[in-house]
Amino acid sequence: MAVHEFDGIIIGAGGAGLMAALQASKSAKIAVLSKLYPTRSHTGTAQGGIGAALGNLEEDHWEWHMFDTIKGGDYLVDQDAAEIMCREAVDTVYELEHMGLPFSRTPDGKIAQRPFGGHTREFGKAPVQRSCYAADRTGHMILQTLYQQCIKQGVTFFNEFHVVDLLVQDGVVCGAVAIEIATGELYTFHAKAVLFATGGSGRMYKITSNALTLTGDGMAVVYRRGIPLEDMEFFQFHPTGIYKMGILITEAARGEGGILRNNSGERFMERYAATLKDLAPRDMVSRAIYKEIREGRGIGGKDYVHLDLTHLDSKVIHAKLPDITDFVETYMGIDPVKSPIPIQPTAHYAMGGIPTNSDAEVVIDEKNTAMPGLYAAGECACVSVHGANRLGTNSLVDIIVFGRRGGKALGRFVQQAPLQPLPPDSEKATRDRIERLFESRGSESVARIREKLQAEMMDKASVFRTEGELKKMLDILRGLRQRYSNVCLQDRGRKFNMELLEAFELDHLLELSQVTVTSAMARQESRGAHAREDFPKRDDAKWLKHTLAYRDEELVSLKYKPVSITKFQPQERKY
Ligand SMILES: Cc1cc2nc3c(=O)[nH]c(=O)nc-3n(C[C@H](O)[C@H](O)[C@H](O)COP(=O)(O)OP(=O)(O)OC[C@H]3O[C@@H](n4cnc5c(N)ncnc54)[C@H](O)[C@@H]3O)c2cc1C
Repeated sequence: MAVHEFDGIIIGAGGAGLMAALQASKSAKIAVLSKLYPTRSHTGTAQGGIGAALGNLEEDHWEWHMFDTIKGGDYLVDQDAAEIMCREAVDTVYELEHMGLPFSRTPDGKIAQRPFGGHTREFGKAPVQRSCYAADRTGHMILQTLYQQCIKQGVTFFNEFHVVDLLVQDGVVCGAVAIEIATGELYTFHAKAVLFATGGSGRMYKITSNALTLTGDGMAVVYRRGIPLEDMEFFQFHPTGIYKMGILITEAARGEGGILRNNSGERFMERYAATLKDLAPRDMVSRAIYKEIREGRGIGGKDYVHLDLTHLDSKVIHAKLPDITDFVETYMGIDPVKSPIPIQPTAHYAMGGIPTNSDAEVVIDEKNTAMPGLYAAGECACVSVHGANRLGTNSLVDIIVFGRRGGKALGRFVQQAPLQPLPPDSEKATRDRIERLFESRGSESVARIREKLQAEMMDKASVFRTEGELKKMLDILRGLRQRYSNVCLQDRGRKFNMELLEAFELDHLLELSQVTVTSAMARQESRGAHAREDFPKRDDAKWLKHTLAYRDEELVSLKYKPVSITKFQPQERKY
């Protein structure tokens, strides 16, 4: 058995993981494990920007940002955490600038900012320019900048190590088990603390903006070890994915003046959100698009609408949205300067995840009891700063602010915590799972089960939900579980066995889909991204609370915990 020993390990090398590593490695021996080469992490695809109330182009305040975040999240946001995020956003953006991040600039040399959905001035009066950006490559620049800093600081990386298990002995975290992709060998990482920063789970759905690798591994790994998942019924659909492909067209396209139009060329968002129109929050815009399509106003009666940029100056499009112009030309053969872009809502972001407090410590019950040595930050975590619906630009803020706080907290923790002994035969559970997969002689393929899962989740548990459809989905999931037990791998080698890793990833997607659907069925109200057609109203009396889903053998058992409300009482959500 090969064992590596560190003070702390960080799983994931996206923005959250790298920021945490930078902080923690100042005072401790830290390793970063990533199934991808770090700069291939999904953070690198983020286009539109990172929200911070710098006030470079007009007056802005972190309190306004905090209010927008809470209202955008349909009041399910933990307000103490949102306050920390919006305050520290300003400082962290400057920190990134000082690390060398090449932001776009105003004519007088300040960081440029643009409007984004749901971000307003004076508590909802009008859109405000808050999103700090580097053209439409903001995430790419963040990831490259942080990776360079990590290299400079000598952080140890284990690239292309796929983590499959968390090690816990007597309720105390003591490491993780990973498969080295190149060799298929198992490795135990023995540590005092583990921070998960494994990103999202959009691959539950057929149409998604998420990379192939976003299979919710971190969430599923901790869930299988008895740790709950919070608010998994809230999954964000971004309004503008390229039709049939789901590839994202950033909200910045609307921030720069793009307009959504239906079959008759009408700017339909005027009917749904009179003040913010096309810049209303994503849940509202996605529902509006679905409604237009259902009522026969999709383009040519089909299931898409248009994103129109043709009235914008072509210089603006090429300077501020170069990458998305390129995507649209490459994938659709359309020049967005001349023709509108066919779009449909695309599965984009997991608001739910591993419950944490604002120091990224994982909390495991209704009383927010922290599990010593276990941390989570970024999209796999739920702090909860996004509540029932995340605003654009707030994920990049979240990963940077809470990645930083988590890294610092982990760095402090390992100074005083002893290294716990490993459980006997730490790799046994993983070895057994691998052997079962290799030995199975069934007739099922990973790809076919995954395809069915994604199509059914898209159909039954996406933008609109009903009890009947969710029930059907649970039955389908039972069937898919059954089929999974008959999976037969074609590749029986150990080196670069991607089929084996995809079998693990599918297992995770099945697990998380079950949590999502069970949590969604229980929540009999509509709030943020969770829209129940059979319960169309928000119900604060019964449902102003977070869901905690625990694994209970083959089933999911649910508990609830209160929302932290400090400054802003829930109001009707009008835009
Ligand atoms: C196309 C697109 C555009 C976006 N644009 C914006 C935007 O403009 N503004 C904004 O705020 N948000 C945006 N978002 C959302 C935001 O980019 C993500 O939520 C955020 O970057 C997630 O960062 P992360 O560090 O949590 O995870 P990621 O960047 O996804 O990184 C996850 C890491 O975990 C590792 N990992 C995963 N599983 C394992 C495993 N089993 N073992 C080892 N390592 C593992 C991966 O290798 C990777 O390094 C966008 C998202 C997409 C998909």
